[in-house]
Amino acid sequence: MKSKLVFIFLFILMATYSNAEEVESLDNIILEAEETGESVLSPEAAEEYFLEQESLKGIFQQTKWLECSDDITGNYSGFGCTNRRGISAILEEFKNRNFYVCVNQALAKVGKPQAVDLHVTHDGIQGDANHSPRSLHAEARAVDVDSFVVTYGSGQSERISFKYASNNAFYNEFRSCWGRAVHEQNGCPLISGRYDLTGSIGKEDRNHQNHVHVSVPYCIGGNYSSRFFRR
Ligand SMILES: [Zn+2]
Repeated sequence: MKSKLVFIFLFILMATYSNAEEVESLDNIILEAEETGESVLSPEAAEEYFLEQESLKGIFQQTKWLECSDDITGNYSGFGCTNRRGISAILEEFKNRNFYVCVNQALAKVGKPQAVDLHVTHDGIQGDANHSPRSLHAEARAVDVDSFVVTYGSGQSERISFKYASNNAFYNEFRSCWGRAVHEQNGCPLISGRYDLTGSIGKEDRNHQNHVHVSVPYCIGGNYSSRFFRR
């Protein structure tokens, strides 16, 4: 009887210890993710992440991007369009208000005509296990843009892919325009005093060579929320 009690005590002790270790490892993963922007989670951390993601969706209003029929069309890279693309209400609003403006500003910067039609090929909006729970993808406030397909008044179309160095000037201007919108329309402080680094992550980060991460950060009272990434 006594040895059975000792066994139960040891079991509780071990269970408590292993749980503490799991929590600690999640903190380390988040720290690592904050340095790199994006990181792969362990299965335990992923489960915790999805639980947190569910609770966040209750806080941040979600809607759908009608990728096939909206004024700005879109598709997930490698797949067809869908009219059920989950997106936060605030990113949908910022996309509709600023994507045409910023794409046309970037086109003007590189001496090209204005776009009369705009399509976005992206690498995702909703968070997944490859992203930290504190990523702005967690509540669908970020979209990873792979390329813009612009159609000019002449009817000619052009795909402008982020990954090609020949498009760097276009994307630098797009990012500056977007950063200004995030600063002026959402009250987010400038990062390093620069518009192009505010509300987006690009080639300055080793994990963002093939897509540009475009976000609407959570800003309140002129400050970033400490709970989420700033971009
Ligand atoms: Zn991203």
